[in-house]
Amino acid sequence: MAENRKILLYRIDEQAKNVIFVVTEDDPELWGNISEDMQTVLSFDEVFRDITEFRNGFLDYEQLTDELIGTINGRGAVFREILERFDDNRLNSFNFFTRYYSDTLRDIFLSARADIDKAGAFFNTRALKKSTEYVNEVFNNIREVMRDDWNFDFNSESDMKAFRLSFDKIIIRGNDRNDIYTVADTALVNFFYDFSFSIHSKKLYVCSCKYCGKVFLGKKNAVCCDGEECQAAYQHDKKNEKRRAKSKDTYNEHMTKLTTYLSQHTSGLKATVQEDMRYVNKFKSRNAEFKARMKAEIDRCQAENIIPGDEQTALLKKLEAEIVVYQSQIEAEWRAEQGKKK
Ligand SMILES: [Zn+2]
Repeated sequence: MAENRKILLYRIDEQAKNVIFVVTEDDPELWGNISEDMQTVLSFDEVFRDITEFRNGFLDYEQLTDELIGTINGRGAVFREILERFDDNRLNSFNFFTRYYSDTLRDIFLSARADIDKAGAFFNTRALKKSTEYVNEVFNNIREVMRDDWNFDFNSESDMKAFRLSFDKIIIRGNDRNDIYTVADTALVNFFYDFSFSIHSKKLYVCSCKYCGKVFLGKKNAVCCDGEECQAAYQHDKKNEKRRAKSKDTYNEHMTKLTTYLSQHTSGLKATVQEDMRYVNKFKSRNAEFKARMKAEIDRCQAENIIPGDEQTALLKKLEAEIVVYQSQIEAEWRAEQGKKK
């Protein structure tokens, strides 16, 4: 083959949660010119959804591909008819994996068919067998990848599995770029392992969006995907929730004010009695009583499902007045004691 072999490069950007794919040829001279429009950038979620979709529809894909493999060394017309269906399937799909596998297999099919056409003229059964075996082998690898749940067990905490894969890295270094791509094997085994490992190390989980219903990879118990509309709905709900929480807080608003008032007056008293803890503790001993009276009011409102209003404000004023009286009473006692000492 004079033509360069097509290869798929990938680069996983864990920070941006996306994967950059580039289909190119096995020729270093081309790699320096990889531009943005040659890249297919898919978010983790998109990769995950495409894999899931491809796996779910794999039986149909497998059947069509098997049919095509079956006709590789058969009649040309039948082969071309099934190849057309195979191409239609690829063209009608927006799925990254359907397209990638189809393109890869198509090249292999055509090259095998060309070999067979040539061999057929001489009835070379050995060449014929070799070609079909190769096609089968490539497709079997894809089958294996799709069937091995371990590749897709993104949150696997299962036993250690050791394996060896030979693959290459391609480093593209320029003035302001230093891209390290991995060359994918035909069946994408290394890609799936790398991808699932990234998901695992980013501690992402398979979640379901409560707005659009799609699955996505998010933090544990996340409820909303990155979709713009879903995010808008989610922010809206969150705001409402905050508002609700705030209105719940109106029940405790007076209690909070009372607590603040008590601690301010404790500090005031403490300064007056020169930190004599006997007097400070005496003042504090009635804190529980003041709070209990406020709490009874709040409980009553909550039981009757009414938002606290003027009555509670009046109670707060009354308690504050009592606190002031009690404070000056204790301060007076302290002064009297100081007077006796002189
Ligand atoms: Zn969503």
